[in-house]
Amino acid sequence: MKIAIDGPAGAGKSSIAKLVAEEISFVYVDTGAMFRTIAYYFLTNGIDPADEAAVKADCEQIQIGIEYKEGEQHIFLNGTDVSKEIRQEEVGKNASVVARYGCVREKLLQMQRELAEKSNVIMDGRDIGTVVLPDAEVKIYLTASSLVRAKRRYAQLQEKGEDCNLEEIEKDIIARDEQDMNRAIAPLRQAEDAILVDTSDMTIPEVVARIRALAEEAGA
Ligand code: C5P
Repeated sequence: MKIAIDGPAGAGKSSIAKLVAEEISFVYVDTGAMFRTIAYYFLTNGIDPADEAAVKADCEQIQIGIEYKEGEQHIFLNGTDVSKEIRQEEVGKNASVVARYGCVREKLLQMQRELAEKSNVIMDGRDIGTVVLPDAEVKIYLTASSLVRAKRRYAQLQEKGEDCNLEEIEKDIIARDEQDMNRAIAPLRQAEDAILVDTSDMTIPEVVARIRALAEEAGA
């Protein structure tokens, strides 16, 4: 069975998907981590992710590996576990840049579909319900206002002791949404058969319960 969760940056997709996956014993597949890993490769090799020709030239050399240890997804770049390093804000921003390119999307699409063939999955991303798993039994479009999303990210960064500014975070979130929604290939949009869940005024347990109920209705 396949559950697809799409939505803009900071909507809480990964926290929610992880919790639901645990409750119903599904594998949680974080596809954003794959785009982040590709961006991380270019950033650490001194190649500008905005240089499409340079990205294309190196795309084949990037080996991405995924392993699940105690329900946690670990992602490997050419054999090295980079799961922690790819969480930086800078990597997220550049993930959205490399995610525009066909060579990157094609490379990851195959991998995402193979993972969904192997187990019952909850997969989150931007194009899961529209492109990657159009036949998913449950499709959810998870969103919240940009201010609510910025406030959540601000709280997370503050907790980690990082210096941050709410206005700047909201500006970055809006810019990332625009880039993801307006690209030519697999743009972020709600699939026609997806259920919209606006979490602006919902708590995490409420969102988890709602998605779990939808999954169970569909036979999970
Ligand atoms: O969800 P996360 O912030 O980790 O994703 C980073 C970026 O990767 C997104 O802003 C988006 O551009 C890209 N992405 C994508 N398709 C997916 C998942 C992520 O284009 N399925």
